[in-house]
Amino acid sequence: MIPVCSPLMNGNEEKYVLNAMRTNWISSSGKYIELFENEFAKYCGTDYGIAVTNGTNALHTALSALGIKKGDEVIIPNFTMIASANAVCYTGAKPIFVDAEPRTWNIDTNKIEEKITSRTKAIMPVHIFGHPCEMDKINELAEKYNLKVIEDAAEAHGAEYKGKRTGKLGDIACFSFFANKIITTGEGGMIITNNEDLAERCMSFKNMYFGKERNYVHEEIGFNYRISNLHSAIGLAQTEKAKEYVNLRIKNNNLYKEGLKGVEEIIFQKEEPWAKNVYWMNAIVLKGFNRDKLMNKLKEKGIETRLLFTGMNKQPCLKKFGGDMSGEYPITDWLTKNGLYLPSGSGLKAEEIKIVCNSLKKILSEK
Ligand SMILES: *Cc1c(COP(=O)(O)O)cnc(C)c1O
Repeated sequence: MIPVCSPLMNGNEEKYVLNAMRTNWISSSGKYIELFENEFAKYCGTDYGIAVTNGTNALHTALSALGIKKGDEVIIPNFTMIASANAVCYTGAKPIFVDAEPRTWNIDTNKIEEKITSRTKAIMPVHIFGHPCEMDKINELAEKYNLKVIEDAAEAHGAEYKGKRTGKLGDIACFSFFANKIITTGEGGMIITNNEDLAERCMSFKNMYFGKERNYVHEEIGFNYRISNLHSAIGLAQTEKAKEYVNLRIKNNNLYKEGLKGVEEIIFQKEEPWAKNVYWMNAIVLKGFNRDKLMNKLKEKGIETRLLFTGMNKQPCLKKFGGDMSGEYPITDWLTKNGLYLPSGSGLKAEEIKIVCNSLKKILSEK
């Protein structure tokens, strides 16, 4: 079977984890946490990194540090993973949805302004599948309406917008290190920022809001989102290899594009000239061929694929939360109905991509 995404750990992971175990530092103290935070922040080009238990909790922590609360609204893309919306709901604020645009499938920056109200406090762009959002437009709107910008960069380690790394394109940014992400710790996440005050608030929220002096007086309802030294040990080793892993994702995408050149039924995510897409996933959209039929036929051939996201406006949990489910989201609907991921992990081999491309071409030609 060719899996949709398996992790690659070919650096110092084992060595560092063993060191953490043998020195007995297995919990939320130990040298690897700070080393990982510093190394990853440096990789992104920011001053501060705060590692937490996963990407969803990174978003919750960042939103909390920005003071987002009940009664507020946060603008998010309709086409994203549920975690982006959930994190907003955890604060009590309402997520407000904006449709994707048809080229990069990111939030349509021409449709944001019409969703801004007196309650809007922040915009959370998501760099979908590793393609950066159009950040200049988003930051202009943020300035005009005095909003905060939180990047959900869970899928976009190392991606660049006009030569600048994701993670320093807004006020604060969040990454995920889940097993299928470009850098992984098994489960893990990180918040990065250049703002010292925000970084301090994130540190406090992450750990019960103990504050600087551990005097058991708590100014806010904090969380326990502390990452372990064991996970951080893996994270440090992975970050040392970040450049290599990002290049592997890009190389895989090039191989797919070559292998599937001229196949009319397949649409790839477009890469804008100002963007460096890191291709977390090789997502495609079908034209004139049934998506479910293709996925079943690929499965028969031992090739694993996955559906793309269902829009936030179609999520029962967000409706129950009291979200505004009205409006039309035609691009999201198109992606949900016709899109899928192909195998995409960093460990994917060129021969495997060849098999996938040839199988795809064969199935599509048999219509
Ligand atoms: C993976 C992902 C997250 C959540 O990360 P976890 O580590 O799984 O909690 C958030 N947003 C997006 C866009 C993601 O793809």
